[in-house]
Amino acid sequence: MVDNLMTTYKPLPVTFTHGKGAYLYDVNGGRYLDALCGIAVCGLGHAHPAVSEALCNQAQRLLHTSNLYRIELQEQLAGELCRVAGMERAFFCNSGAEANEAALKLARLFGHNRGIDKPQIIVTEGSFHGRTLATLTATGNRRIQAGFEPLVQGFLRAPYDDLPALHRIAQNSRDVVAVLVEPVTGEGGIRIPAADYLPQLRALCDQNGWLLMLDEIQTGMGRTGRWFAHQHAGIQPDVMTLAKGLGNGVPIGACVARGDAADVFQPGNHGSTFGGNPLAASAALAVLRTIEQQDLSTRAAQLGERLLQGFRQRLHGQNGVVTVRGRGLMLGIELDRPCAELVTRALARNLLINVTAEKVVRLLPPLIITDEQADTIVHEVSDLIGQFTGN
Ligand SMILES: *Cc1c(COP(=O)(O)O)cnc(C)c1O
Repeated sequence: MVDNLMTTYKPLPVTFTHGKGAYLYDVNGGRYLDALCGIAVCGLGHAHPAVSEALCNQAQRLLHTSNLYRIELQEQLAGELCRVAGMERAFFCNSGAEANEAALKLARLFGHNRGIDKPQIIVTEGSFHGRTLATLTATGNRRIQAGFEPLVQGFLRAPYDDLPALHRIAQNSRDVVAVLVEPVTGEGGIRIPAADYLPQLRALCDQNGWLLMLDEIQTGMGRTGRWFAHQHAGIQPDVMTLAKGLGNGVPIGACVARGDAADVFQPGNHGSTFGGNPLAASAALAVLRTIEQQDLSTRAAQLGERLLQGFRQRLHGQNGVVTVRGRGLMLGIELDRPCAELVTRALARNLLINVTAEKVVRLLPPLIITDEQADTIVHEVSDLIGQFTGN
């Protein structure tokens, strides 16, 4: 019964029974085009055969042994992930928040190893990093934090996409050990920083001996048109966190690191009972192989261009529309007014979309949509926005 659930969510009045590709089907047989894919999770769409097959096979062999023993699939997954990311070591967990917790603990230990007793981590305004105590503290949104004080110590906050603010922190604070940022904000409204933001941030981290830690939980796994969003900027982080698209719906997160950051954790410093178990690792391996074999990140870039152009044609200069922006299949249409009700209006048209940061229509369709499905999204969403803003 819905009454037996804690009221952390207020779900829409629809229940899905199954899915295929970019479509979900509800209990009444209705079909919905999914332009959100479980909030950037099911990047390969629903019931992808490669993932389903890997899961079925693995479920019949071995689900879990714990990390007290070697896990071959986890080792393979770490190898593949490090290869495509240009990183060296991975730690596996079960969610995005846990991946960020691992990164935050890694940064603190990195600091302590260098004699910094009260290490500080720089985070940004408008960011989202999760719902655990440390990650909600890192999150730059008061509404996520309110009621859960006292917050965790050891964070400094700067505006997003603001290099001078970071230079000021560098001059005034001696205990900084790391910066944690999203290369494109997800929950914060699909903000894309200036082209020199990440390269300059990389340089600043190098000058000061800080770890550059990128939260690619939403942006990673091909979504923005590259394997990882930082690759558009031609830089390499010291630490990167992943989750969402990594398992196509199977809970798995990862914290990957290179250089000095790769060797910070020693046995006993961190852990997870479930993290990287054979079942989850088999799903993530299938996801990685499918993205690579079908070059889905390139496809995401093409589709993103098609959607962006389509929306610009339909919405540019229209009353009520502030901007249309996107990188690959992460798109945001910012309106001049709160527009949460567009989600229910879209649902009535059998289309699944999201609104974030109150005024931003967010689209995160699966990487496997067809050109025709992309055009349908442009058509339906533009129509909805037109009606809503009275154009
Ligand atoms: C979703 C998200 C998280 C949190 O992931 P959970 O799996 O919900 O804990 C953290 N950071 C970013 C950028 C996200 O989009």
